[in-house]
Amino acid sequence: MDEKNIIRKCAACSALKPRSELIKITLNKSCGEVRVMPGSDFFGRSVYLCRNIDCVNAAFKKNKIFRILKIKIQETLEEKIRAVLEK
Ligand SMILES: [Zn+2]
Repeated sequence: MDEKNIIRKCAACSALKPRSELIKITLNKSCGEVRVMPGSDFFGRSVYLCRNIDCVNAAFKKNKIFRILKIKIQETLEEKIRAVLEK
């Protein structure tokens, strides 16, 4: 299967998009680490967001993204995601 055609849903606006067009945020349950756009060697529960500021803002509104991932609030996560947007 072509990796680029895997469809995922944005956690903020629920739009369905090819995974390659989304920001991937992965929680590795065994170490508790959260990575933004992890490499292929980092596995875990993932959420996806559109590459736009509205969806990033919506994901952090009322800490939605942390509730989805079921983790404590991490102050640095929003910064990391914004850095991806700026690329
Ligand atoms: Zn979205």
